[in-house]
Amino acid sequence: MSRNRVIRCAACAGRIKPQHPHIGVENLETGEEFSYHARPGCQIRCAEETATRLEAGKVYAMHHYHSSWCPDEAPGFGCAGGCFDTPMAVAN
Ligand SMILES: [Zn+2]
Ligand SMILES: [Zn+2]
Repeated sequence: MSRNRVIRCAACAGRIKPQHPHIGVENLETGEEFSYHARPGCQIRCAEETATRLEAGKVYAMHHYHSSWCPDEAPGFGCAGGCFDTPMAVAN
């Protein structure tokens, strides 16, 4: 049984290309993972929905998937590829 690799954004229901930056929110109990676009609107939905799920007592891990062309060896917020370059990611 081959795994379907089509990822859909939990915020806007649009398709996420695996080589594009996106966020995964993984339920550590079930292994289920919600995916979101890295674009600001979907990131905000991601933060809101994750907060709601955390309030419900669930345990989640956030994964930040960088674009396939991101040049950073240790990608993170503010990476050289600008994958998650949004107001949500910076404090100043
Ligand atoms: Zn989206
Ligand atoms: Zn990156």
